[in-house]
Amino acid sequence: MSRSGGAGDRLERVRRHMADIGVDVLLLSHGADLPWLTGYRAMPLERLTMLVVDLAEEPVLVVPALEAPRVPDPAGRFTVRPWGETEDPLELTAAVVRRSAAISAPTIAVSDRAWAASLLGLQRLLPDARWVAASTVTAPLRSRKDPDEITALRAAAAAADRVATQLQQGAVPLVGRSEAEVSADLADRLRREGHQEVNFAIVGSGPNGASPHHEPGARRIHPGDVVVCDFGGTLALHGGAGYCSDITRTVVVGQPDPEVRDCYEVLRAAQQAGVAAARAGVTAEAVDGACRRVIDEAGLGDRFIHRTGHGIGLEEHEDPYLVAGNTEVLAEGHVFSVEPGIYLPGRFGMRLEDIVAIGADGPERLTQADRALVEL
Ligand code: ZN
Ligand code: ZN
Ligand code: ZN
Repeated sequence: MSRSGGAGDRLERVRRHMADIGVDVLLLSHGADLPWLTGYRAMPLERLTMLVVDLAEEPVLVVPALEAPRVPDPAGRFTVRPWGETEDPLELTAAVVRRSAAISAPTIAVSDRAWAASLLGLQRLLPDARWVAASTVTAPLRSRKDPDEITALRAAAAAADRVATQLQQGAVPLVGRSEAEVSADLADRLRREGHQEVNFAIVGSGPNGASPHHEPGARRIHPGDVVVCDFGGTLALHGGAGYCSDITRTVVVGQPDPEVRDCYEVLRAAQQAGVAAARAGVTAEAVDGACRRVIDEAGLGDRFIHRTGHGIGLEEHEDPYLVAGNTEVLAEGHVFSVEPGIYLPGRFGMRLEDIVAIGADGPERLTQADRALVEL
């Protein structure tokens, strides 16, 4: 199977996979499937945007007329059908679907991110159709990145890495500042390093670090605090689609107490074991298992309260998910986080996260900032 870039290639792969799994029509609205396939990202407006892809005819993009100027030149890949304010876009979409007249009861895969109102309207207009989620078509294709996508992910990772390094070098003041102030500082730096958007900048200090997705707040950082910083954004290379970064580093203000140091050694060994296990041919759950085993053996298994990682690409969280029960086999081109954490409620938390790409020769970490427990 070829994984070279290019939207034409992607359309072919989509159609092949639709045929394989018995999907007659694919309908894409908001979310990342549409930009992945066409280069166009629809704003999540109430007005309907829907790309109709069937197995034979040229795809049609039904788009609000006022949004049509934002659609990149389709160059023979699809037809743009702008709709005016007095037209019914659901009727238009249904009419395009019905052009595959040979199919009496089509199976239609519809965007996981389409509004429920759009789907309910289409179900009323196409009562004989069988409906499935678009991700059944797109997720296995999108999860394996082509070389251009790896390049974009590497650039996003390098930008996040520079911010992590600034944090570890003491360029981001901590003591006396609130978590919210530190979070805003990290966000500014993500933008300065080239991200167009900041998706999150979690700062969990002291006991707050024990909540993995802590909302940075008014708590001021004190000497002795362990501070979990998990941040990422979206970075587009020369006008291309934006790809996501995501990194976590844990730092400590002053000398850590011995228990913190011991926990961190376990965390670092667990993350290393997870990364080393991430190879083509192993299951997603095996990577989670490799990581978790190290923490279990240290007697801290019940303190690692989330999955080991998530795929990353046009979205921060996408397939494949590294979690017990996911028997999906990893392959070259899969890119995901490996991010074990250890959380002691009321006391402190810690997490270490890198983005890892599976290459021909094994795992490659795209994020490279120091993995030691840096003392500031
Ligand atoms: Zn998270
Ligand atoms: Zn993260
Ligand atoms: Zn993550």
